[in-house]
Amino acid sequence: MNFVSANPTGLCFGVRRAIERLEAALKEYGKVYSFGSPIHNPQEVARLSSLGLVVMDDLRCIPEGCVVFVRAHGIARSELTELENRCGAVVDGTCPFVRTAQNRAESLSAEGYKVVILGNSEHPEVKGIVGFIGGEPLVINSASEIDRGRRYGKIGILSQTTQKEETLAKVVSKFVFLSEDIKVYNTVCRATIEHREAVKKLASSVGVLLVIGGKNSANTRELFEIAESTGVLSLWVEHAGEVDWRWLKGRGTVGVAAGASTPDWLINELTCKLKRL
Ligand code: SF4
Repeated sequence: MNFVSANPTGLCFGVRRAIERLEAALKEYGKVYSFGSPIHNPQEVARLSSLGLVVMDDLRCIPEGCVVFVRAHGIARSELTELENRCGAVVDGTCPFVRTAQNRAESLSAEGYKVVILGNSEHPEVKGIVGFIGGEPLVINSASEIDRGRRYGKIGILSQTTQKEETLAKVVSKFVFLSEDIKVYNTVCRATIEHREAVKKLASSVGVLLVIGGKNSANTRELFEIAESTGVLSLWVEHAGEVDWRWLKGRGTVGVAAGASTPDWLINELTCKLKRL
């Protein structure tokens, strides 16, 4: 069976860096607490848990003096300060691109801009960015949420790193008419753009496309939806064991794409099985 992988695909720079830091800490300390799930992939979380990871969704439940890990999405400044004061060591896995978005938001707020964040208000990354702002930011998912009847003085716009640049451009073009002073930071991450483009390209040259990644991963969902929208038969699995190989029979070349939170070992398991076929 012929197969071809999207390029790039799988772990993005920020998640890989964070997981490498976490693994090194697990090796050194034996037990590490994570504030929130370290990666949106159940199989990888299970593997890390077997090495000593303990996931805590409530910051207050993280014991004093322990070693704590901050995931790539980052956290609010007040939460980081609390962890630094309470824990023995903080292993900070915040992606540098997310850190840039946090710093931009903080500086805009300090300069007196009303901060507008394009993103999902429930997403941990957005909550973390909001936690770097002094005033009350405006978090919107699309340009259609902007109130055309309002007028603003100074508006500072940035984006959740996984948003689309086209959506950011639409938001900016609407605010241009509503504010006297507008400052924009394009904080969209290139990795997300490249992953999307790679799936689109791959979909046009294969008979079936397997998307591998956690069912709780928004990024994997988006890649799957992109694949589906091209009309190619698209299947979303978390691991190779879920694939019914009869689905692939007679469909020609199989495409493989992975979410930005899918570890290499899960992708390798899948491609090894495809090679054996
Ligand atoms: S998608 Fe981009 S911003 Fe988000 S963790 Fe990965 S590299 Fe960092």
